[in-house]
Amino acid sequence: MAMLADAVAIKASTFQFFTRNPRGGSAKARDLEDERKFVSEREGAGIEAILAHAPYTLNPCSADPGVRDFALRVMVDDMERLEGVPGSLYVFHPGSHVGQGIEKGIELIAEFLNKILKSEQSTFVMLETMAGKGSEVGSRFEELRAIIDRVSLKEKLGVCLDTCHVSDAGYDITGDLEGVLKHFDSVIGLGRLRAIHINDSKNPLGSHKDRHAPIGEGTLGMKTFESVVNHPALRDLPFFLETPNELPGYAKEIALLRTLAK
Ligand code: FE
Ligand code: FE
Ligand code: ZN
Repeated sequence: MAMLADAVAIKASTFQFFTRNPRGGSAKARDLEDERKFVSEREGAGIEAILAHAPYTLNPCSADPGVRDFALRVMVDDMERLEGVPGSLYVFHPGSHVGQGIEKGIELIAEFLNKILKSEQSTFVMLETMAGKGSEVGSRFEELRAIIDRVSLKEKLGVCLDTCHVSDAGYDITGDLEGVLKHFDSVIGLGRLRAIHINDSKNPLGSHKDRHAPIGEGTLGMKTFESVVNHPALRDLPFFLETPNELPGYAKEIALLRTLAK
């Protein structure tokens, strides 16, 4: 599996991948042999959690039933495929309510998840914390909580915190990481936090922009990442880089983050 070899080459202990074209919906045919190879080699390669990311183009809370149905078909297919690599993580953007209002968006996303999640699946699904661009749902912890509250199979559902997104959403992880995590805990519960997207941001706190920057080169800065990778509530979670980089850049950032970790 090419992704496994790349991850090993840059000394990663985990990686994220898109289940299909991130800006479309088409996926390659399944390669069962490749899946088996990955499952048998991952341990020796030191790859722990792997995280599959749904395409950006899905909108589970669109006003258009056809768009919602497309998202449903894609995610049902993703869930089936991921069973080839048992115990994977899966993350998706909750969606944009496009004028229907937050409440309606929350309702549609929960309804959607109630169709996706199955008690027999081994994949753990996560809502991503969003920057709050346009009419995105999920930029406030309360919105994610409201979705979780309406989902039946809560044990299959958690949250992936994106450091760029939460800052863009107005949570000051640079000035008060402890306070933000306390708030997360009281609203959602830190037990549901299962992965971190570790990205710097090109824009200031509360900008609602969602433009990622390389680690230490954005408005969050190195000190923030030092606090993030060492915080007792976060340090044992899998971290995934989504910075604007190619493989050599990621290798450097992984090495850098390891030097920050005490
Ligand atoms: Fe994402
Ligand atoms: Fe992200
Ligand atoms: Zn983003």
